[in-house]
Amino acid sequence: MINRQNIRLMAIGAHPDDCESKVGGIAMNVLQRGGKVMFVSATNGNAGHHELTREDLKARRFQEASKVAEEFGILYRIMDNDDCTLQNTLKNRDELISLIRSFRPDVIVTHRINDYHTDHRNTGLLVQDASFLLRVPLVCPQSPALEYEPIILYMGDGFKKPNRLQPDMVVDVEEYLDAKAKMLYHHDSQFFEWLPWLDGALDKVPHDREGRIEWCRRWLLARSEYLKGPQVLQSYRMIYGDKAKETLRCLEAFEISEYGASVTPEELRQLFGIPV
Ligand SMILES: [Zn+2]
Repeated sequence: MINRQNIRLMAIGAHPDDCESKVGGIAMNVLQRGGKVMFVSATNGNAGHHELTREDLKARRFQEASKVAEEFGILYRIMDNDDCTLQNTLKNRDELISLIRSFRPDVIVTHRINDYHTDHRNTGLLVQDASFLLRVPLVCPQSPALEYEPIILYMGDGFKKPNRLQPDMVVDVEEYLDAKAKMLYHHDSQFFEWLPWLDGALDKVPHDREGRIEWCRRWLLARSEYLKGPQVLQSYRMIYGDKAKETLRCLEAFEISEYGASVTPEELRQLFGIPV
């Protein structure tokens, strides 16, 4: 069993901010217990804006991600694929394999392959296709193959077809809500410009730091509602037992992928000290 204190967690999302919003809580759990975290964005996020050019947005999103990395001590890598164009190519797969091998994660978290966004689906596919190859020395021979199999998890989502996420680990992340909101706060091109523009709410965006962090906190709480299917709530009550809250406000949920190391839900939760 991996040393619970020194977990190496690698979250692989499609866009800068996916890892923060879906994995930020468990990432804080790992960091506080002495582990290491790397966030990977498979695209440079250069389509999510209504005014900026792709070139300007790419530079801006790189800076936003760098602020998250700096404030929270998270390693951050952005692959230079244009937003909304990610493909499951050999080049991208090889780049991802080298990245995973160089970080040597115990646990990888990524998107499921049924998801609304083409980049999310292709990110999930890239990880799925890379998973076995991580241990094959003749694939990407410039980086040494792993001699172990990382655990692979899917990050929570609310999609129902063909099936809902199987919640093997549900985490009450309320204690990390502020940290997550502060991570999102750094992605100002998204949370205070692009997403409010899409929602027709640009005039409601606060201008001060505290107001903006509160705005992100509320966004995270609303996002948690999508995850609360009956299975998730049942799983939460089973995991937390007497400690289960009447109302679970802020959560992250994860499913174990069958393409990673074999682990039971109990072993997985033990690894992260959940419930504490
Ligand atoms: Zn995304």
